[in-house]
This record gives sequence, C-alpha cells and structure tokens, in this order.
Amino acid sequence: MSSYDVIVIGSGPGGYVCAIRCAQLGLKTACVEGRETLGGTCLNIGCIPSKALLHATEMLHEAEHNFEKMGLKGKSPSVDWQQMQAYKDDTIAQNTKGIEFLFKKNKVDWLKGWGSIPEAGKVKVGDEVHEAKNIVIASGSVPSSLPGVEIDEEIVVSSTGALSLGKIPKKMVVIGAGVIGLEMGSVYARLGAEVTVVEYLDTITPTMDGEVQKQFQKLLAKQGMTFVLGAAVKGVEVKNKKAKVSYTLKKDDSEQTLDADVVLVATGRKSYTDGLGLADLGVELTDRGQVKTDEHWATSVKGIHAIGDAITGPMLAHKAEDEGMAVAEVLAGKHGHVNYGVIPSVIYTHPEVASVGKTEAELKDEGVPYKAGKFSFMGNGRAKANFAADGFVKILAHKETDRILGAHIIGPMAGDLIHEICVAMEFGAAAQDIALTCHAHPTYSEAVREAALACGDGAIHA
Ligand code: FAD
Repeated sequence: MSSYDVIVIGSGPGGYVCAIRCAQLGLKTACVEGRETLGGTCLNIGCIPSKALLHATEMLHEAEHNFEKMGLKGKSPSVDWQQMQAYKDDTIAQNTKGIEFLFKKNKVDWLKGWGSIPEAGKVKVGDEVHEAKNIVIASGSVPSSLPGVEIDEEIVVSSTGALSLGKIPKKMVVIGAGVIGLEMGSVYARLGAEVTVVEYLDTITPTMDGEVQKQFQKLLAKQGMTFVLGAAVKGVEVKNKKAKVSYTLKKDDSEQTLDADVVLVATGRKSYTDGLGLADLGVELTDRGQVKTDEHWATSVKGIHAIGDAITGPMLAHKAEDEGMAVAEVLAGKHGHVNYGVIPSVIYTHPEVASVGKTEAELKDEGVPYKAGKFSFMGNGRAKANFAADGFVKILAHKETDRILGAHIIGPMAGDLIHEICVAMEFGAAAQDIALTCHAHPTYSEAVREAALACGDGAIHA
C-alpha cells in the first residue's frame, strides 16, 4: 500500500492537469487511469483526433477549391484514408506520450487500472488499496444516445466510432447539430460524403449567438451539408449494413426517413462515474448524474473533490483543465479560482466559430443595456487574400460603461482570435481599450479591433 497526499482518478485534461499542478505545489500525487494511454477522452477519442481529421480535410478542401485560383496547378490530392487514420493515430500517440513524460518529469505516479473508492481516504486499483489524504474524481464523460437508437460503432456510431470508420461513407446522417456533430459532419462532407444533419431544435448550435447561427448554417450548407431542423428522431433500423433513420417533422407531424451508410449519434455526452462506488460512499449526484460540488469543487463527502465533465458546467477540455489547476491550489492551501463567465467555446469547422461571455439574447433577457460593434472579414485585407472573408466579429459592450460583456466570431482563426477578448474581459476592459491597442497589419486580429472601434465612433474599413 502506498500513501499519497492526492490521488486523482482519471487522466483527462481535468485529471492530468490537476495531478501535475498538485505535484508542482509539493503534494505527493498519483493519477489512476484505466485506459491504456493517458490523456482521457480529449487526447484519445476527442479534441485531438477530431482536430487532426479536421486539419487534413481542410487542407484537401483548400487544395480542391483555392489552389488553382492562386496559380497552383496540377492534380488535386486524392485521399488515402488509411494514411489519414495513421496520421491521426500518430498525433494521438505523440500527445498521450507527452503526458506520460510530464508525469515522470513532475514525479506523478501513474496507477494503471480502474479505480474505486472503498471509503474516503482510500482508492482501490486492481487488488491494491492506496491511501490518500485527498481524492479528486476526474472520471469524465461518455457519449449518450437516444431511445430507439442502438450504437454498434460500425454503422450507428458515436463520436468514438466516427473517428475511426473503416471507410469513408457515401451517405452519412448526423443526429444532433451540436459542436461534435458539425465538426465530424464537415470532416466527412469534405471527404465527399453526402451529409444530412437532423436536429430536434429549430436552429443549429442552440447556445450560440443568433446571427452566428444563421451565417454558420448558410456556410455549412454551401459546403454541401444538408440540414433537417425541428425533427424528432424516432429510431434507427440497421439491415444488410445499411441504416434507415426515421423521424417526425415537428411542423406538420409527418413521418420521414433517411437512408445512410453510417449514422453518427451526436446528441450529447453524460458524466461517467460507473464503478467508483459513489452511491455507497454517499457522494451526492445531480438528477442528471453529475457529481455535486460546492464552489471549491468539494463533494458531499469530506476529502473527495470532483472536476471536469464529471461535474456540472460546459463539457470542455479547458474548463476541466482550469478546474484541475484550481482544485490543486485549494488542496495545497491556496485560493483556486475559475471565472466561469469567461470560458470560450470554439467550433473547429471552416470557418471556425468562437464565442465568450453573453449573447445578445441573454443580455436582452437580463435587461442589460448593451451596444454591439460588428465587423465583417470582407473588410480585412488578410482574409480577402486567403479566401477567408466569410464571417464577422461581434463585440457586445455595456451601453454606458463600454465594458466588454461578450464576443462572437465566425471566421478565420476565430478560435485563436477569441482569446484577445477573453484576456480583455478578465481585466474588466472596455471595448475602447481594444480599439486603442495597435494591432499588426495585415492580420485577422485587425477585425477584432475594428469590431471594438464599431462599439464607439465606428470601424474604419466598414
Ligand atoms: P475525460 O477526458 O473524459 O477523462 C476521464 C478519464 O478518466 C478517462 O480517460 C477515463 O478512462 C478515466 N476514468 C474514468 N473512470 C475511471 C476509473 N474508475 N478509474 C480509472 N480511470 C477512470 N473539448 C474542447 O474543449 N475542445 C474540443 O475541441 C473538443 N473536442 C471534442 C471532440 C470530441 C469528438 C469529443 C468526444 C469531445 C471533445 N471535447 C472537446 C470535450 C473534451 O474531450 C472533454 O470536455 C474533456 O475531455 C473532459 O475532460 P475530463 O478530464 O473531465 O474527462
């Protein structure tokens, strides 16, 4: 039996970051992981592999659509799916091995196997029981399905199966127009699949800014994706390796079907705490099965904390990481803090979509007086040169104080551009602060400055 100051269960971005920070703060730390490699959902079957496939297929799209325009002639590349998969797998391996290296460097012990908590202060892995002054649950999440839809990871797949299909399907139906569905849908659309997205709500990406939603849907449709909105999926039938998706159109109650070679079920994820023994311990869960925590990530049982996808809040890697660092600070007797008002969210399609803070709809609901400064990438020289002028930056600032309340970007590198606004919001900056900051020319970030100028006396290039 070994004794630790902290044992973290789960090595996703929440767990591994927490373990490393605990060790850096002088706590003797171990991390339990049942998977064969470290890094959790994010590195193995989430953020990283999906971004590798998005990158490869974006390059293909660029070659097919823009090379000739720039005088780059010749045959456009053909797709070697096995090689693209190998590139994705290599990207995963580099990242997961990187975490192993960081564990060694920071002296975090990896306890290999599935862990459970027989009692507060103890973690069982295999036949061994280890002692821990503190336990952090970072057990993450798994895909959730719909009633009547059985995932076989071959014809009817979750995001996990969609990352490793045996071949590129001719026809794909994506159930759910959220981030994962649209990212994976656009991968296969660029690879030539006929992709239809079926969504229960009347809009795609329901939490996004309304104007962004509309333009985003238009741009994805232009890239060949078809949307069926306001449709309640009733079931998926699989026969002879083909699927039939049946749904009811809410506007007229009509029953419809769609044929597909592959159906991706992207209807969300649920917290995963199976096998930890939380019920016997008396660790309280929400009615959605998430571990209940207070503002310092403490659960209802002393000495047990929880973070990441296992608890409430957006299921995002960087939210899990921030909580991992913050809870480590708390366990080391410091003051860990996460500003939940400034957590960016990004969709890595082409163009990218990114947002932080409040949407216009939320500000209206809350009765907050605001102004919106908007700037189109059409007025940005770099975007025009790079065939990336679709989209805009919108900054929302308080009408009287000019303090930035939110920002919504659809356009090139939106996922990187959003961080200028995040930093500004962390510092309580006004739109004028960004407007008065010199931005290098020609960069996409000038569009952010122009949107900030539009909150005041007006953008220059509009
Ligand atoms: P996880 O990453 O889920 O890790 C939990 C780990 O705990 C797992 O490895 C699991 O094996 C282990 N575990 C669980 N129980 C036990 C146990 N009892 N014993 C031992 N080990 C255990 N987020 C973003 O921010 N950006 C993105 O671009 C993005 N893309 C995504 C794409 C896809 C396809 C998917 C599925 C998700 C994506 N996400 C993205 C979400 C992101 O992956 C999660 O929010 C993040 O991984 C949550 O981190 P976590 O540490 O809470 O849990």
